[in-house]
Amino acid sequence: MSTDQVIMAGGGIGGLGAALMLARRGVKVRVLERAPEFGEVGAGLQLAPNITRMLKEVGVFDKIAPLSVFPKRLVFMNAKTGEELTHLDLADAEKRYGAPYIVLHRSDLLNALLEAAQAEENITLQTSAKVEDVEDHGDRVVVRTADGAEHTGELLLGADGLHSRVRREIVQDEPICSGYVAYRGAVPVEDVDRRMSMDEVVVWMGPGMHLVQYPVRAGKLYNQVAVFRSQEYLEGKEDWGTPEELDRTYSEMCESVRVAIPSLHRNNRWPMFDREPISTWTKGRVSLLGDAAHAMLQYLAQGAGQSLLDGAALATALPALGEGSWDGEALAGALRQYEDERVAFAGHVQSTARVWGDIWHVDSYVPMILRDEVFRSRDVHDYSFVDWLYGPVQDDAAAAAEPVAEPAVVAEPAAAVEPAPAA
Ligand code: FAD
Repeated sequence: MSTDQVIMAGGGIGGLGAALMLARRGVKVRVLERAPEFGEVGAGLQLAPNITRMLKEVGVFDKIAPLSVFPKRLVFMNAKTGEELTHLDLADAEKRYGAPYIVLHRSDLLNALLEAAQAEENITLQTSAKVEDVEDHGDRVVVRTADGAEHTGELLLGADGLHSRVRREIVQDEPICSGYVAYRGAVPVEDVDRRMSMDEVVVWMGPGMHLVQYPVRAGKLYNQVAVFRSQEYLEGKEDWGTPEELDRTYSEMCESVRVAIPSLHRNNRWPMFDREPISTWTKGRVSLLGDAAHAMLQYLAQGAGQSLLDGAALATALPALGEGSWDGEALAGALRQYEDERVAFAGHVQSTARVWGDIWHVDSYVPMILRDEVFRSRDVHDYSFVDWLYGPVQDDAAAAAEPVAEPAVVAEPAAAVEPAPAA
C-alpha cells in the first residue's frame, strides 16, 4: 500500500504534464500508467500560442523547441480545386499572442515531460498499473490496480483518456462516435512527395474529408493526417473506414492531395470520438483532466494543449493545501477554483471543435461555395475568431492593431471567419 497526495491515473501528455507541474509546486504525485511503457502515437501535434505561452512559463518549452518546427503559415486549401483560400501568418500571430505556433512529434513532447518527471523527487512513476477500482472514503481515496496493488491518496486525478475509467466515478456517459476516421503518421521527409511544403501547416478541406500536413522533428519527419466521414460506418458495417474507403474518398481530390495518400500508414486507423461537455469534473476526492474530462474532436488542434492547461490550473489551485493530508473542505475549494478556470472554457473548445469540423467538411454545392467565399474574402489580419482561444492579445500587438496596420505580407482578399487550426 502506497500513500501520496495525488494519484494520477494515466501517464499520457495530460497526466505527465499535470504531474510535473504539480510536483514542481511541491505536491507529491504517483502516476499510474496501464501500459508497460510511457509512450505516444507516432504522429504529430500542433501547439498554438495559448499552449506554448504556458509551456514557457512552466519551463517545458525550451526542452521541446529544438525538436519542433516553427511554421510560417497555416494555410487553408480547397481539396478538390487545389485553390488556396486563406492563411494565418504565424509570425504575425506570434507577435499578437506573445508565443509561437509550433508543430512537433508527439513522442518528443511526451519524452520531454517524462524526462522532466523522472528528475522530480516528488513524482513516482509506475507502469503496468491499470486503475480498476476507486473508493472515496471521504478523508482519503483508495485506488486498486489490476495487479491487486492498493494506493491511497488525498486526491485521485483521472488523466486516463477518452475511455476513462475514472470518469465513471463522476458521470455515466459514453464517448460519441463521429463516424469519421483518421489515418495518420509521421514518415521520413524523403518518403513524401517533394512538392510538400516544409515550413507550413497545410489544411486541405473537401466534402466529408480533410487532410492536414506539416513537418515535425526539426524538419526530419513529415506528418500527415487524413480524416474522412465513412460511408461504411453510416451503412452499419462493422469494419468501417477501411484503407479501400480511404483510397476511394481521396481519389476524387486534386493531385496535391492524391499524391499524399500513398505515404500514409495503413495498418492503423483511429475512429474519431468526443464527449459531451459536462458541468463538473469533480466528485469528492476524485477529479478529471485532459481527454478524460473534455475529449474533443481534433479540428481546433487543442486536445493535448487543453490537457496541459488543466495541469497548469491544478498546479495553481492545489499547492495552497500544503504538505501532508488535505482537509476535505479546503480540497473542495481548490477543486472549485480549478473547475472555475477550466470547465466552461474547455467545454466551449469541445463544442467549437464540432462546428469547425462541420464547416470544413460541408459537402453540398451551395454551402461549399459560401464556405470558400468566406475564407477567401477574409482579411488575413483579422484574428477576431481566434482571439478567444489563442489570447490574451499582447498589449503592444493590440496597440499596433489600432489604426489599421499595413499588411506585413501580401494580403489575401478580405473576410469574416477566422479559420481554426487543424489536427
Ligand atoms: P491520452 O493521451 O489518451 O492518455 C491517457 C493515458 O492513460 C494513456 O497513456 C493510457 O494508456 C492511460 N490509461 C488509460 N486507462 C488507464 C487506466 N485505467 N489506468 C491507468 N492508465 C490508464 N491535440 C492537440 O493539442 N494538438 C493537435 O494537433 C492534436 N491533433 C490530434 C489529431 C488526432 C487525429 C487526434 C485523434 C487527436 C489530436 N489531438 C491534438 C488531441 C490529443 O491527442 C489528445 O487530446 C491528448 O492526447 C489527450 O491526452 P490525455 O493525456 O488526456 O489522454
